[in-house]
Amino acid sequence: MVRAILCAGACVAASVLLAGAMKADGLSERARKLHFSCIVVDTHDDTTQRLLDGKFDLGTRTSAGSIDIPRMREGNVGAIFFSIWMPSKVTGPDAVNRAIVQIDAVREQVRKHPNDLVLATTAAEIRDAHKQGKIAALLGVEGGHMINSDLGVLRKFAALGVRYMTLTHSVNVAWADSSTDTSAHNGLTDFGKQVVREMNRLGMIVDISHVADKTFYDVLATSEAPVIASHSSCRALCNAARNMTDQMIKDLAAKGGVIQINYHIGFLSQEFRDAEKANPQIEKEIDAEVKKRCGEVEACQLLEKEKVLRGLVAQGKLPRVNWTRIIDHIDHAVKIAGAEHVGLGSDFDGANMPYGMDDASHLPQITNALLEKDYSESDIQKILGGNTLRVMEQAEATAKRLGGHP
Ligand SMILES: [Zn+2]
Repeated sequence: MVRAILCAGACVAASVLLAGAMKADGLSERARKLHFSCIVVDTHDDTTQRLLDGKFDLGTRTSAGSIDIPRMREGNVGAIFFSIWMPSKVTGPDAVNRAIVQIDAVREQVRKHPNDLVLATTAAEIRDAHKQGKIAALLGVEGGHMINSDLGVLRKFAALGVRYMTLTHSVNVAWADSSTDTSAHNGLTDFGKQVVREMNRLGMIVDISHVADKTFYDVLATSEAPVIASHSSCRALCNAARNMTDQMIKDLAAKGGVIQINYHIGFLSQEFRDAEKANPQIEKEIDAEVKKRCGEVEACQLLEKEKVLRGLVAQGKLPRVNWTRIIDHIDHAVKIAGAEHVGLGSDFDGANMPYGMDDASHLPQITNALLEKDYSESDIQKILGGNTLRVMEQAEATAKRLGGHP
């Protein structure tokens, strides 16, 4: 708006130039060219839950949720880790079985869409998929509760193609503390350290999103390979226990790891968190409304919560969070740790997206914004996916050295 008013008076020539450089969606030609030449990797997506109802198919463009093949094409997603997730209250053999059902659901989508998707388990397979013009689908298990304290189950997940595991979700597991629970193990137990070592041997990346700070430091001391925070943001900008402190980001980077920035508004915006905290009743209202609409169906809950929240923003009861907060967190992490240690972990279809980043089709905006901040093309290429590919290669090399997979 400001630009339009200025140009109406004096900058006709400038506006002609601008029209030549920018398309209607606000992307510069340079940004478009760069974005569509990169392998864009998203390390955390929760669409798997939606596959379980048997009706949702990735091949059809919908307005619900954030991910399907057409919108991934529009945003040039090159590789996406589909999260295998269920609430932490599901435990024991039930958790193992439900994980296998979800892994199968992702693999079936790959089978149904051979022209668009290919299952990938290594960085080289992602690069091959890119050359063939396909989207690489990968698997990540979100929560150590799904291995039922059994390294044999962990090995089976690896054999089915799982390439990272988030050690905990929002509640402690029997061998690791979560950031959103009361400490029970002082970080990782001895068995937890065995899990990390076995993951190193299997070439499965250790994901420290969700874990307690002490668990994170135990992982850093134990793991022989670099680790990732598949979907975490910066605690200095938004004080959520799930986010990483500047020191943690530095220490993660010193070990070669990557923090993949999460787009969830509750992890991006302190203002939003404060507004929620100032009105404890509002969270109860949101939960009650979501339950009324969805009952216990988790995929429905994930999607409906977004609509309920946006209704409250429209009524002025909660602040509006703009997508550019994602850029603020990327930029902060880059300043702390360097462009080699930052990536993208959207949490699409599992969290509440900021305005302007409703789905994967909006991803080129990130490239555009980083160019506007004078990031080099090579740094942007690393942030979009190059860094995650590097960590995968390092995890694969560690596995080879330890005599394991792949
Ligand atoms: Zn998560």
